[in-house]
Amino acid sequence: MEQIIDKYFRPGRLPHIWCPGCGNGIITGAIVKAVDKLALEKNDVAVVSGIGCSSRASGYLDFNTVHSAHGRALPVATGVKLGQPRLKVIVVTGDGDATAIGGNHFIHAARRNIDLTVVLFNNNIYGMTGGQYSPLTPANSKATTAPYGTVDRPFDVTELAKGAGATFVARSTTFHTQLLVDVIAQGIQHEGFSLIEAITACPISFGRQNKMGGAPDMMKWQKDRGVMLAAYEKMTDEQKEGKFPIGVLYKTEAPEYSAEYDKVIARVQKGAK
Ligand code: SF4
Ligand code: MG
Repeated sequence: MEQIIDKYFRPGRLPHIWCPGCGNGIITGAIVKAVDKLALEKNDVAVVSGIGCSSRASGYLDFNTVHSAHGRALPVATGVKLGQPRLKVIVVTGDGDATAIGGNHFIHAARRNIDLTVVLFNNNIYGMTGGQYSPLTPANSKATTAPYGTVDRPFDVTELAKGAGATFVARSTTFHTQLLVDVIAQGIQHEGFSLIEAITACPISFGRQNKMGGAPDMMKWQKDRGVMLAAYEKMTDEQKEGKFPIGVLYKTEAPEYSAEYDKVIARVQKGAK
């Protein structure tokens, strides 16, 4: 582990700012383990983040990094990918950042099938900005903006990504760490828009407001509910109650945006209209 920290984390940036028991460090660790597993050169990786607890990850990592504006990681990452198509571009974002403020960017990046790997840290809440509910907060959950429970129906962000045109969609949790490394690595290798929903424990904001106990209780919550897709599909509707599928949920092939764009450039350079 120390070798990984020395190799992939910027000197002098740790300790991180995340609260005790926060799962964000596990996801950040999973990203570097996935890069390490694929034996990618650090200079061939770019990490682009938005704003929020999740998005602090880019500041700790020793890759090419951009810490952008709230909700705007995807347009910035799109520019990075089009300018430097050789780069493996990883976007770190949160549930509020990606699906509320950046929701429009999210669906259009998926629709274009641009080769970005989006690791969405889903802590079910706006942690950094004060505990407001997000589009992924489960209905009836408490938040500072819903002290009696939200009546909003949440997105299933994996279905949203799939419906919008993403070609690789996976989910894991901070309990299922090896799976998380594996699906991030697969997402990086996939040529197209990849979404990895990483369900993370936020004991200090979401957990505290919803009386979920400490980090170990929240990890147990993940362990008890995450079911590998193949087993989940065999369950009855009754058995599925309160559970969610994990693993690779959807994968298909489609033309990739930056490659298609390169073809247009080549055609125009040859003088074609
Ligand atoms: Fe982690 Fe939640 Fe604290 Fe943010 S508020 S650092 S997500 S525990
Ligand atoms: Mg969040």
